[in-house]
Amino acid sequence: MEYVFTPPPVPSIAVAGSDTRMPVRRIFCVGRNYAEHAREMGMDPDRDPPFFFMKPADAIVNDAETVAYPPLTANLHHEAELVVVIGTGGRDIAIADALDHVWGYGPGNDLTRRDLQIAARDKGRPWDFGKGFDRSAVLGPVHPVAAVGHPASGAITLSVNGVEKQKGDLADLIWSVPEVIAILSQSVTLCPGDVIMTGTPAGVGPLLPGDVCVVRVAGLGDLTTTIGPRA
Ligand code: MN
Repeated sequence: MEYVFTPPPVPSIAVAGSDTRMPVRRIFCVGRNYAEHAREMGMDPDRDPPFFFMKPADAIVNDAETVAYPPLTANLHHEAELVVVIGTGGRDIAIADALDHVWGYGPGNDLTRRDLQIAARDKGRPWDFGKGFDRSAVLGPVHPVAAVGHPASGAITLSVNGVEKQKGDLADLIWSVPEVIAILSQSVTLCPGDVIMTGTPAGVGPLLPGDVCVVRVAGLGDLTTTIGPRA
């Protein structure tokens, strides 16, 4: 096979304590999966089926990198999230079997151009350019299930310049990891390397050039991002 130009590199996430990397296929994100965050976004938390949006896999940013303040926004936000990496694919996965499909877990930061997202939401338009812009998916390192098991509770926090802004507990997810995997697999065939960002707790807020943002998920370590000057 000859391509008309050199294919792009395979997007990937660092694996904790290893030189190997997890190749990434797609990035699915769950909207409004903690009740307090749904309320701060002006929505009623409920048990309506979860909804999903996506980020392109080439938007991945690794730990300790600098992200230039993105274009076309005046309100870049942080969102601390538990990240799930799928190791074994499947369709119509049962809740009881869902965790068998997980390769590992890590911290994530769902960078959001909040002004663009809200404007799109209020007009019934897609969220893509509020959520899926360049370098918007801060991910990893991921820890294999063999090392960390399946975290179902524990603190998830985010600080900006050392000041805590977000705090939640994984036990407060409206839709649990097995439920999210089962429901997502009814819509699409999940594949190895698919990543799920499971939603953010309350306390989302702005990031400015020069800020240092740290996501911490109990048992999964830290994920640090510095915001650089406007691109
Ligand atoms: Mn999010």
